[in-house]
Amino acid sequence: PVPKSISAARSARILCLQDSNSNTKYFDFVVVGSGVAGLRYALEVSKHGSVAIITKAEPHESNTNYAQGGVSAVLCPSDSVESHMQDTIVAGAYLCDEETVRVVCTEGPDRVKELIAIGASFDHGDDGKLHLAREGGHSHNRIVHAADMTGREIERALLKAFHPTALADEGLPIKPTNRRENAFLITEAVRGDGGILYNQSMQRFMPLYDERAELAPRDVVARSIDDQLKKRGEKYVLLDISHKPREQILAHFPNIAAECLRYGLDITSSPVPVVPAAHYMCGGIRAGLQGETNVKGLYVAGEVACTGLHGANRLASNSLLEALVFARRAVQPSIDHMTRSSLDIHASTMWTRPVLPTSLESHAMQEILFRTKTTRVELQSIMWEYVGIVRSTSRLKTAEWKIGELEAEWEEFLFRREWKPMMVGLQACEMKNLFCCAKLVVSSALARQESRGLHYIEDFPFLEESKRKPTIIFPTSLKLTWSSQQAHKLAAGAPL
Ligand SMILES: Cc1cc2nc3c(=O)[nH]c(=O)nc-3n(C[C@H](O)[C@H](O)[C@H](O)COP(=O)(O)OP(=O)(O)OC[C@H]3O[C@@H](n4cnc5c(N)ncnc54)[C@H](O)[C@@H]3O)c2cc1C
Repeated sequence: PVPKSISAARSARILCLQDSNSNTKYFDFVVVGSGVAGLRYALEVSKHGSVAIITKAEPHESNTNYAQGGVSAVLCPSDSVESHMQDTIVAGAYLCDEETVRVVCTEGPDRVKELIAIGASFDHGDDGKLHLAREGGHSHNRIVHAADMTGREIERALLKAFHPTALADEGLPIKPTNRRENAFLITEAVRGDGGILYNQSMQRFMPLYDERAELAPRDVVARSIDDQLKKRGEKYVLLDISHKPREQILAHFPNIAAECLRYGLDITSSPVPVVPAAHYMCGGIRAGLQGETNVKGLYVAGEVACTGLHGANRLASNSLLEALVFARRAVQPSIDHMTRSSLDIHASTMWTRPVLPTSLESHAMQEILFRTKTTRVELQSIMWEYVGIVRSTSRLKTAEWKIGELEAEWEEFLFRREWKPMMVGLQACEMKNLFCCAKLVVSSALARQESRGLHYIEDFPFLEESKRKPTIIFPTSLKLTWSSQQAHKLAAGAPL
């Protein structure tokens, strides 16, 4: 119900949320996610109304917080927007949306300056100017960074920019999440700074694959490493920066140096073992130039969005930049939308209200958590094995089948333990989302019958000009989600 205390004028532009005690809360803007995109947007719209930021872990826990290399932007007179555009389009294998690329490369410098004005502190050179690093695929030094912890600095500055009382945590208690322990990224800024890749016989191999050698875009480097590993039957290659002065290495990569040292590896004196790893998803919810989607009032920015900037492969350090640009672009249109729209008090009853699985026996819950954990590992290994760096139609089809089976078995396991379609829990929601993303990635990969950018498929190893179009997948072409499947089965009286 709309509280009486809220005036008609104000209630015309509010959204509604309910907490677990059925208390209804009203906000002008609801932001999902507290990474760079969510926080930058929230900071701006909070000048125009009330904002709820919904996030699934601690406020700083996000991909943003782990970003190392930096933010790319044209900030030096010898660089140009055209050059940044060209590098983005070449890395994206000519699948980028040129208008989006122009917008991002043009507006990028102002967005970075705003971030500095908000309080983000980036590295400066001896000349007192911003230190601009270089990364793979960039033809100029244009990476603004805070040593090798750029994302952490951006998160810190953005969170601090909110009034302390503004970030009151009103959510359910969440166990503090552990730092991600399973893998540690070594930014490609190490290659940009002169790092060299060797196979285990200490043979430098990148020049054999691409004239840009270690500075080739990441899809080329990943495929080259993959080729070396397969040909030589080895598990890793070596990345060496130890020929650079120790002080320089420690100044540029203090975090990487310290983390490697924890494992007994001193990057200032010896090479470190590395393998390619997925740490970004190209593609997402289709968005226009203001971050608008085909759902009225829903705007997207950052990694969740598909704006057309990255095309078939993201240029290093263009992701934080894209998030900053689109978070800002979505501000005015969403304010306009909020002002124009009226509150639909029935909207909150349109969906079945989610419930926490408190009615389940604790041993059933333990079993569900364990099964979800192992299912997640299994899904990851299917994706790595069959949908990885080098693909084939038959392996993608195998993946499609295996994912379908795995999902069905997992769902059945849960429902046999009294899990209900409207129940929500962090691990189960993530699992559902991972299945959804995995299916989208496989469908997109099967739909592209050519090799372009990060999508390399053995059956169609070449670029084909006639296929240089974005892949768009409509929800109807995907299989039903679990809850609708299960609800459907329940309605039909089918045994679970
Ligand atoms: C190790 C690593 C290094 C990287 N280095 C760089 C780099 O140097 N330069 C660069 O440009 N990019 C880099 N990237 C990519 C970049 O960090 C991300 O693309 C970018 O930070 C995305 O910002 P975002 O705000 O869109 O999303 P995120 O920072 O991922 O934030 C998403 C937010 O949404 C929340 N959330 C997610 N799902 C839900 C849900 N269902 N309900 C509620 N909340 C939810 C999360 O908790 C989080 O707060 C790197 C990524 C990684 C992982």
